[in-house]
Amino acid sequence: MSSKDWLEKDFYAVLGVPKSAPTDEIKKAYRKLARDLHPDRNPGNKEAEEKFKAASEAYDVLSDDKKRKEYDEMRSLFGSGAFRRGARSGGGGQFDPSDLFGGFSNAGAAGGGAAGDRRFGGAGFSDIFSSIFSGGGPGGGAARRGPRRGRDVETEVTLEFAQAVRGTTLPLTLRSAGECDTCHGSGAKPGTSPRTCPQCAGSGLISRNQGSFSFSEPCRECQGAGTIVDEKCPECRGTGGVTKARTINVRFPAGVADGQRIRLSGRGEPGDRGGPAGDLYVQVQVRPDEIFGRTGDDLTLSVPISIAEAVLGTDLRVPTLDGPVTMRVPPGTPSGRKLRARGKGVARKSGPPGDLIVTVDVQVPSEVTGEARDALERFAKLTPPAGRERLEARVRRGS
Ligand SMILES: [Zn+2]
Ligand SMILES: [Zn+2]
Repeated sequence: MSSKDWLEKDFYAVLGVPKSAPTDEIKKAYRKLARDLHPDRNPGNKEAEEKFKAASEAYDVLSDDKKRKEYDEMRSLFGSGAFRRGARSGGGGQFDPSDLFGGFSNAGAAGGGAAGDRRFGGAGFSDIFSSIFSGGGPGGGAARRGPRRGRDVETEVTLEFAQAVRGTTLPLTLRSAGECDTCHGSGAKPGTSPRTCPQCAGSGLISRNQGSFSFSEPCRECQGAGTIVDEKCPECRGTGGVTKARTINVRFPAGVADGQRIRLSGRGEPGDRGGPAGDLYVQVQVRPDEIFGRTGDDLTLSVPISIAEAVLGTDLRVPTLDGPVTMRVPPGTPSGRKLRARGKGVARKSGPPGDLIVTVDVQVPSEVTGEARDALERFAKLTPPAGRERLEARVRRGS
């Protein structure tokens, strides 16, 4: 693989892990992909095969601390695309970014790989599989024994408008993968244990030739696990994992906004062997209200009034989230005028609360008949015309 490829490829997206994912999580994500996308499981499926190879390539880089560091640095330096544009407009020969990072495209290719195996960069591929599927291998054992931080968990919540304004505490039920308590993750019925796979002798790997390629891939007998479970654990049906549900109370502060993401430190998945728990991220959606809108800490409300109310003034009873209030509409209030009910908006943690802003909307009747019409015509005769003098001067001038 050429380092130039690195600019084009988002290995984190390929594996579906965040950029901050610890090695264990990368390993887990890849192992799942490799099994789901394995050519034996998807015979003749070109798309699965391409994804399988892409996942292997991504894992090759991200599982190697040194390569991953180089990849991250390179992406942050040139990932914006500015570098490639620059290279083109330069007009000169093709500029190979690997020149900048002399030789790192060969990093890790320590022999053993089949000739012509360009895609998997030399030895990388089989090394990867042996280390993740056998449970041992370089780095694997050591990383596995130490404390491991729990995974971050993402979830979504929809709040009612008033809940978001006032703040609320809600129980959230989170489901996440956990180790089966009955078999402690082995997948074997209690009292039995998994046996070493005879096909791959426990390595989880089988050599395979495919056209000009020759590479190792997960053993089909044991699905790459290296072991075979004869009597399955009844609790997890042999998978070793179960879905665990837990309920936690999450407090949403007053004024939480639609689209806001709340981080609850240490409320994600528990860590392993004394490692800290991951974080919980809650993506908040706020259901719109039928009548109220919201701008920051202010609530907004549109109130229709009649022409007579606009001219003569009136007292309005308007709803707020804490019960109705009376607002004075002064005589001569034009349509669109904003009135403010102080403190009737979103309560702030510190400082005064937001306001309720009422926008007056003068309703013009589409038809007036009978006495009302007579009265309105009399009104028109008795009041000065609208001030259109300047417009009329222009009309007379003809421009
Ligand atoms: Zn089990
Ligand atoms: Zn096997």
